[in-house]
Amino acid sequence: MAAKIIDGKQIAAEMRAQLKAEVAELSEKGIVPGLGVILVGDDPASKSYVTAKQKACQEIGIYSDDNRLPAATSQKDLITLINRMNKDPKIHGTLVQLPLPKHIDEAEVLLAIDPAKDVDGFHPVNVGKMVTGHRAYLPCTPHGVIQLLIRSGVKMEGANVVIVGRSNIVGKPLANMLIQKNTTGNATVTVCHTRTKNLADHTRRADIVIAAAGCPNTITADMIKNGAVVIDVGVNRVDDPSKKTGYRLVGDVDFEHVKEKASLITPVPGGVGPMTITMLLYNTIEAAKRAAGLSQ
Ligand code: NAP
Repeated sequence: MAAKIIDGKQIAAEMRAQLKAEVAELSEKGIVPGLGVILVGDDPASKSYVTAKQKACQEIGIYSDDNRLPAATSQKDLITLINRMNKDPKIHGTLVQLPLPKHIDEAEVLLAIDPAKDVDGFHPVNVGKMVTGHRAYLPCTPHGVIQLLIRSGVKMEGANVVIVGRSNIVGKPLANMLIQKNTTGNATVTVCHTRTKNLADHTRRADIVIAAAGCPNTITADMIKNGAVVIDVGVNRVDDPSKKTGYRLVGDVDFEHVKEKASLITPVPGGVGPMTITMLLYNTIEAAKRAAGLSQ
């Protein structure tokens, strides 16, 4: 039987409606959540992500401070801007769009962001808090995946989860969230990567497969068991002359065939993607509440 599609657009829209109502309540108390966004250079994908983030802020009433800098911007100037945002009371969250140009040390830049304004959840202080089970800003994409699972009624407790990918922004934090001793954790997690021997041996045993490899067709139908839940984080451009742009977006999962075996599956686009921005909005509102002493 074909899988039920997890509609990330719909789930994200419901969450954003709740967040919009929360922003309206905060504004009655004189609090306007603010997000500082920094884009260095003119990478087309990064530009479109930043534009989508700003549009999402506008739609729910979050103030967005837009900073688009030339590719030649020095690391020193970038850090000076971050320091200004760290001190600006109108800005509760600071986001530096990655990747940065090669001459800039990404780790140094992320360290410059005040952990209290680190709404991407990439600062080592927040990573450490997350790993040790303390309250932290959770990184947006993995948090979005967890929300999709919860809101689709998937039980993580006791489930065998296989994550394909071990990056600092998706695979590693997701594994950490899923092994936490709490209601959205308690899973048994295997993290696979390019040095994993026989990937299919792992994925076939999984109740939940989460693909975050950045490579089309990494997960094919023969690699999953009947009834597995399949979450596709991947976003890949493949040539498609029938499209005006000349390309279309696909995930890491062979969707057409895997959907015939899975019980639940996310599409690309329209699955994890809309949740990432939603969790950024969530973290920015949380940061504003913490700054106002309304949340710890
Ligand atoms: P990344 O930094 O390139 O990491 C990819 C990971 O996948 C690495 O750990 C790599 O292993 C592993 N991998 C790659 N090919 C593999 C294969 N054939 N078998 C097993 N493991 C494999 O990528 P990322 O930043 O985590 O992003 C992953 C994907 O998610 C990308 O397509 C990205 O565009 C997408 N993404 C989507 C969103 C969203 O909002 N929807 C957000 C973030 C990322 P090694 O460590 O051994 O190299």
